[in-house]
Amino acid sequence: MQFKANLNTRDSILASLQVKQAMEKQIKSKLAFVRCPEHKTTVQNIKVTGNSASSFKVEMKYCCDQLKAEIEKALK
Ligand SMILES: [Zn+2]
Repeated sequence: MQFKANLNTRDSILASLQVKQAMEKQIKSKLAFVRCPEHKTTVQNIKVTGNSASSFKVEMKYCCDQLKAEIEKALK
């Protein structure tokens, strides 16, 4: 993800907020139907954190490694 260098600080904060929200939405929609094969639970608390596109981190809660494997498959 690249931003134009001539954005002022406020614009770039807004832009990265928008990118963050868009990312979050995309990840949520990709994981909406992902369920743990054993516990039948879905992924919870999906959140993108970080202040710039280069430092974004995705946080989420899942019950176990089986669901983690499903998440990795879905996000590929
Ligand atoms: Zn599980």
